Amino acid sequence: MIAADAEIADVLALARPEIRELQPYEHAAWEPNLTRLHANELPWPNCSDRHDPPLNRYPEPQPRELIEALAEYYGVQPSQLLATRGSDEAIDLLTRAFCRAGRDAVIVTPPTFGMYAVAARIQDAAVVTVPRSGAPGFELDAAAVAAALRPEVRIVWLCSPNNPTGGTVSKATLDAILAATAGRALAVIDAAYAEFSASHDDGAWLARHAHCVVLRTLSKAHGLAGARIGALLAHPQIVQLLRRILPPYALAAPSVSAALAALQPTSLMVTRTRIELLRNAREQLARDLAALPAVIEIYPSDANFLLVRCRDAAAVMRATRAHRLLVRDFSAHPGLAGCVRVTVGNDSDNARLLDALREL
Ligand SMILES: *Cc1c(COP(=O)(O)O)cnc(C)c1O
Repeated sequence: MIAADAEIADVLALARPEIRELQPYEHAAWEPNLTRLHANELPWPNCSDRHDPPLNRYPEPQPRELIEALAEYYGVQPSQLLATRGSDEAIDLLTRAFCRAGRDAVIVTPPTFGMYAVAARIQDAAVVTVPRSGAPGFELDAAAVAAALRPEVRIVWLCSPNNPTGGTVSKATLDAILAATAGRALAVIDAAYAEFSASHDDGAWLARHAHCVVLRTLSKAHGLAGARIGALLAHPQIVQLLRRILPPYALAAPSVSAALAALQPTSLMVTRTRIELLRNAREQLARDLAALPAVIEIYPSDANFLLVRCRDAAAVMRATRAHRLLVRDFSAHPGLAGCVRVTVGNDSDNARLLDALREL
């Protein structure tokens, strides 16, 4: 299902006019059955190359097989999907396509993922902050987001499950924000951790709202952070618009092969089992951490990490490092005093984390 055409005209009107009118770079035609004497590639693979396909050829720009596999996995049409170098690239593409430098703005809801504000600053777009409520819920305030909307706001960034707090934005809150932003701004749901949460239905949001964009990635639940493969799900005309500013050969061939292998049914079966395993480990780790004197509170998480409020974050940072563990200090962020974020590791990693904190 794809949202109605009347709505998409209003959404495209939000994009920068020079991007709407841009004549994209014309990459060499993709005709795999013909001999390629049109792209200035070397006819032989490098002597060290063990890849299949070998790397002497440029990759297919938006590989059809990958687009179809990702679209099936996320429950959308191939025309609704843009494959990107991780969600980070999707964040950058959206910001550059929709925000005029020095004039437009985005809304972020801290504490949340830092890349939205960084991408905005790189593009010289203003960052309007609508803070979430405090602990323990870190809820998004839909009415405050609606009140912060103004003509310059082009993108409202919504992270669910939210990094670094771990909670999912409720359906009622998302519905209220999607209603408030309709025809006024893009509402982007960054669902990087969706697999670890109880429920998430990308197709349903997109079918009802032409201005809704969903970001997914193979970096987290699929264990492919090193491959840099993400997916932007949106109305086909938004996908077409963003393709204009995507570099012509954005996806490296070995990454495409790795993603295709991970999307095979047999791999997906194992991935689903591991997600279950990880969720159980998360709940166990949360209980074990909560029992330690160094810990004040663990916040509920739908992701593969826990936000932990400690009595002394600096002491926790020192103790974990002494045990050769890296965790992330968020204690300087507003509303997160004493908080560190820990990624759920394997059994031995988690045991070492508990040992380190037990000493405090
Ligand atoms: C990790 C993360 C990303 C980046 O994912 P990549 O696909 O690896 O670029 C995007 N959004 C959030 C909220 C994340 O935590």
